[in-house]
Formats: sequence, C-alpha cells, structure tokens
Amino acid sequence: MRESKNYLQDLNPAQREAVETLYGPLLVIAGAGSGKTKTLVCRMAHLVEKGIPPEKILLLTFTRRAAKEMIERASLLLKRDFHKVTGGTFHSLCHTMLRQYGTLIGYSPNFTLLDRTDAEDLFNLLKTSLGLSDNKKRFPKKDTLANLYSKTLNQEKSLEELLDSEYPQFLEFLPEIQRLFVEYKIYKKEHQLMDYDDLLLNWLEILKNYPQIRDEMGKRFHFIMVDEYQDTNTLQGEIIKYMASTHQNVMVVGDDSQSIYRFRGANYRNIFDFPKIFPQTKIIKLEQNYRSTQPILDLANVIIANSKIKYTKTLFTLKKEGAKPVLFRAKDEAETSKFVVDKILELREKGIKLSQIAVLFRSAYHSYELEVELAKRGIPFVKYGGLKLLESAHIKDLLAFLKIILNPRDFLSWNRVLLLMEGIGPRTAEKIIQTLKREALPTSLNRILGLSPSHELKRWLELYTTIKPYEEESPSEILQKIWYFYEPLFQRIYSEDYHRRVKDLEGLFSLVLKYKSLDEFVSDLLLEPLEITELEGETLDEDPLILSTIHSAKGLEWHTVFILSLIEGRFPSLYSLKNTDDLEEERRLFYVAVTRAREKLFLLSPLMVYLPGEGKTFAKPSRFLTELPKTLYEEVNYTTPEEKSSHIKPVTENYMNTHYSTELSSTSSFKIGDFVKHPHFGEGEVLEVMGEKIKVNFISKGPTILHLKYTQLERLL
Ligand code: ATP
Ligand code: MG
Repeated sequence: MRESKNYLQDLNPAQREAVETLYGPLLVIAGAGSGKTKTLVCRMAHLVEKGIPPEKILLLTFTRRAAKEMIERASLLLKRDFHKVTGGTFHSLCHTMLRQYGTLIGYSPNFTLLDRTDAEDLFNLLKTSLGLSDNKKRFPKKDTLANLYSKTLNQEKSLEELLDSEYPQFLEFLPEIQRLFVEYKIYKKEHQLMDYDDLLLNWLEILKNYPQIRDEMGKRFHFIMVDEYQDTNTLQGEIIKYMASTHQNVMVVGDDSQSIYRFRGANYRNIFDFPKIFPQTKIIKLEQNYRSTQPILDLANVIIANSKIKYTKTLFTLKKEGAKPVLFRAKDEAETSKFVVDKILELREKGIKLSQIAVLFRSAYHSYELEVELAKRGIPFVKYGGLKLLESAHIKDLLAFLKIILNPRDFLSWNRVLLLMEGIGPRTAEKIIQTLKREALPTSLNRILGLSPSHELKRWLELYTTIKPYEEESPSEILQKIWYFYEPLFQRIYSEDYHRRVKDLEGLFSLVLKYKSLDEFVSDLLLEPLEITELEGETLDEDPLILSTIHSAKGLEWHTVFILSLIEGRFPSLYSLKNTDDLEEERRLFYVAVTRAREKLFLLSPLMVYLPGEGKTFAKPSRFLTELPKTLYEEVNYTTPEEKSSHIKPVTENYMNTHYSTELSSTSSFKIGDFVKHPHFGEGEVLEVMGEKIKVNFISKGPTILHLKYTQLERLL
C-alpha cells in the first residue's frame, strides 16, 4: 500500500473522478482490490488539501483499527496532521454522540454499555423474575433470545415472522417472548443500560426527532465517508441519511459481492438503496483490479459468476502473468499442515516475509492442527478472529468491577461482582442488590454488611467507597486498586489455569496506561472487542505469519494466501448447508478469501478429517471447489521432503494436543552459555533466559530474542 506525494497522478480516471468529487452524494461500487479504500484515503487527503479542516471529516469503517490506519495514510500523503478527523465504527460514533446527547431521551452521560454476554445474562435474569425459566423447559435459551431480539431490530421483521421462519418450535411462546422483550427494554432504560443495538437505535431516534441535532451534526461533520458499505444494516443506512441531511456530502464505497455480515443484520442490498436515500447520487464503478494476478482473478470471477445472485461488476487486471492457484488434497490435516509449513519455509527462503503470508479459514478452530505444526517448526504467528478478550471470564470480572465504579446502578455487574466473593450465593447477592436499589452507597453500607459476614464483601465495599473515577485518580491507578482486591479471588476461582489467564491481564494493565479516562477505557474495550493476541505484544524474532478467520481478513491483502479446510461442512459451514441465503454468504466469504492474495494462492482440502465423536472420517470436497473448471487451478501431489510418514502422527492423536505441544522448548531446558541450534538461524549461544523468552547470540545474525512458545531450539552442548 505505497502512496506517493503525487497521489492524484497515481489514480486511474474513475478513481480520480471519485477523489475530485468533493460535494454531493457519491457511491463507489466496485469489486475486490479495485482501489476503493485507496480512493477513499486519497479523497480524504484531497479534501484537506482543498482547505477543508480535518475536524469537519467523519470516516466510518468496519473497525477502529482500519479507520486509524486510513487516517494515518492520508496524513502521510499530505505530510499534515489528520488526527482531528473523527474516525471509527458506526457503534463508536453513536456511543460518543449518546454520551453527549443521550440526556435528550433520558440517558445520563454515564450510561453503561452491555456487551453480548451481558445482554444474555439480563435475559436470563428477566426470565427468572417473570417465572419463565422454571416451568417452561422448552422456552428459548438466553443466547437465542438475545439473537432474536437483535434480529427484530435489524431485519425489520416482526417477532412472529422471525419465529415463523427461523424458530417455529418457539411460536407457542410468542406472547411470553413479547412480554420478555418489553421487560428487557424497560429494565435497560430504568438502569441506564444500552446494548449494542441501542447505540444505533437511540442515536437514530435523536436524529429523527431533533432537527437542531441534525443541523449541529451537519455543521460538525461536513463531509462523511464510509468504507465497506456493503456490510452496513438498515439502521446504519438511516443514520447516514440523517447525519448528511443538511449537506448531502457523503461518499460511501463498497462491494456487494463481499457482504459477509448477514448474520449480524447486514444487508448487501443496502448499497443499492443508497441512491434511493440520496436521489442526486453520482455512481462510480471501478473495474481494474490492482491487487491480484490474472489467474487468481479468473478464479475469483468464476466463484462469483456461479452465484445465484447477479453481482454488478467485472474485473480485469494488467498483472497478466502469474502462477495458477494451487490445490492440494492432502490425506489428512496433519499432512496439510506439513505441506503449508513447507511452502511457507520455501517462500521465506525466497525472501518473502512471514508477515506477507496469510493462512485463512472459515472458523477459528480449523487452524488448531496447523498451529501445533508451526510451533514445532519454530515459525512465529499471530492469529486474528479467535477468542475475543471479552469472552474470557476473568476479563469480564475485572470489567464488572470497573462498570459498577462508573455506574453504581449497573446491577447486572453488581451481581457478577458479588458472586465472585466467598460466602455469597445468588440469594444473598439478590438481597444486597435490592438494598442497593433502595439506598445507594455509602449510606447503605452497614445495612449491606449486615446481610453477609463475607470478609471479601467487607473489603470490597471499603475499597469501593473510596474510589473516585471522575476525579483525580487515573484509570491505571483504579485498575491497580481493583487488582489488589481481586487477585486473591482470582487465584482461588481460576486455581487451575490462573498462570495462563494472568497474561491477558498484564496486557490490560499496559493498555490502560494509554487512557486518561476510565470511561473511555471501558467503552473502548466494549466497543471493539480486542483479541487476546493483540494484547500480547511479544518480542518476536521476526514479523509473524498471519493466521486469520476470513471475517477478520476483510479489506487486507498478502503476497501469498492459503485457504484451509475447503470441505463440505466446514467451508461452506455446516450451518449454512440448508439455507440458500446462508450458502450465498459462504460463497461471498470464499470470494473475499481468494481476493486477499496478490501473487500466490493455495487451496487446501484434506481427504480425511477428525470429527469429535466420530473419529477420522472421509471429507467431501467443498462445492465451491468442485464447481470450478479444472483449467483454473493446478492440482499438486506432494511428498514431504523426506517423506518421513512415520513422523506424521495419526490425526486423532495430533488433534488432542493442545495448541502448544509439550514437545516444544521449555524454559527449564536452557541456561546461559548453552550452545543451541535454531532451524532457521542456525547456531548460537544463549545470553539470557527471561521467563518464556530467551536471548541467543546467533552466528548468522547476532543477539536475538526468541519466544520459547514459538521456537524450537535444540541444545548442542
Ligand atoms: P477490498 O475490496 O478488498 O477492500 P479495495 O477495493 O479497497 O479492496 P484497495 O485495498 O484500496 O482495494 O487496493 C488494492 C490494492 O491495489 C492496494 O495495494 C492498492 O495500493 C492498489 N491500487 C489501487 N489503486 C491503484 C492504482 N490506481 N495504481 C496502483 N495501485 C493501486
Ligand atoms: Mg477496501
């Protein structure tokens, strides 16, 4: 992604037209790799070059990380400071605005954000209080309820229609579910809580009902730009309509064939509705692909042409030369992993950096076996799209403490916090909460202490009443205080694996240092759930290889891409097989995966896989593969260099290994002065052993820090 100073000259005529169209509604609709994001970045730079102050620009995209990167790129083009551009996701924008204007609809500026699991917990709580959980065994579970609720908002269907089409077995509970939904809304409002959907809904409500806010928005953000518009939903489309109503200076870019968030309510047709919302829309199509070689593009074009849906574009490239995509049908996943790692090492030998190579997959677990092989062979990697930080219990614990500090009426978090304490069960927790509802702390302190003799409760309440989040204490100081209280509980509750868990917390402690306000820290964690790997920040000996789910690979590109597990039931996924719309989404996902590759593409489809409960079974190749003409790819046979088949363990056995097998180097095995051998860097001497890290003075490259988790070192002397 290089951009020169003469950014206008780098553009093709269609891109340039988009960049130079500064006023009025503009829709750029184009296929993968055609420079949509580049055009958007250049237009942002161009606006500023033409004298528009950066603070008048609003940039919305799919992740805040992507927005930040685009703003940096624009700033590099002009060598000007762009930090005043407001960049983020729809949710982060709405969140900021609601903190400021939420009072108009009865929300105080310190309302609490519920993440998905909080919302589910609330459904459970209300189910119990409405008496729906005990006697109705077949009543939908909390995740189904949260899912249904969200769908009624995002898909513009009534609850009855949704039940009818997706959950007919729950139709008999229609009145109860309706009542539950009403209660859910009331509860949130009463307790100053908003879930993710509320952020969009509430902000939209304000925009709709308050013309003066629309005017204010129009003045504040005079130019609006949205990337990846195909993955917005109807509410987001409406938000744009109102935010831009006074000036209509709004540019959106997207690709209908890359819409992959239907399950979250995104609707690829939204992009076609844009000109309906803004009748003056100028539409620009980009047809030249700059990313991939012709053979890769040929494959991508067929994937999308085989779709039942008619998409709008044809792509061509000037990069005519290039290797055909390679298909390898290994006998099992162990062999697939060996093949992938061998190819990666070959590429590295040829000078391709590991960070220019990505292995993509439909679901995070598809890469487990490969991760073991990578670790064994000493190849560092990071994984995206795996476990989100917020999905781990200990992080949620800490957040619950922070949330009740920010909003003392967040009784859901109170509940979580109280249940962590020794000697407090659900009943006592409920009594304490009832007391807190009637009378806030510190007035109710003695009354609450009278409800339970728990020492931990006493310690917590004493601490709680001294913390002043909106005054002089920094977020980091507050987190430290909480940790001081929570650490013994944490060790007790997670006694089996607290060593592993404490690492994530360390990451959190360094992250919090960047924040001046606790509120911002907590909101950021909730708004863009970080992945565990993003916090690790380890010193690796080279830029790591990328492992990623396809969803998390959106908008990105690499020199070489491997796509794993192209078999029925995995890709397309098991859940999609029965429904045409879901299958279409899987196809778009495959298209997204293929179009991430610049030069080389490898498709992997093992003949056998291990299925939990079923053992090793034959796999059927993905329909997305079998429908491809054989002329479009090259199928290879592969024998591992030494064909040491005895080294390939039976799949079942390998599968049972944890991510990082015990065969890896362990801390205890090295000491200062040892001579060691690394598969890639050769021989060297151990200079320092630092916990899980080791510093080795390699003959080939001098002192290097390696992480034992990712490295295989052999001791020579
Ligand atoms: P996606 O649909 O995957 O998000 P995109 O349409 O946003 O793709 P970009 O990521 O902006 O495409 O561009 C793809 C690649 O093509 C980038 O490496 C970019 O620098 C390059 N590129 C785009 N336009 C041009 C151009 N006019 N000249 C040279 N390179 C270009
Ligand atoms: Mg893009």
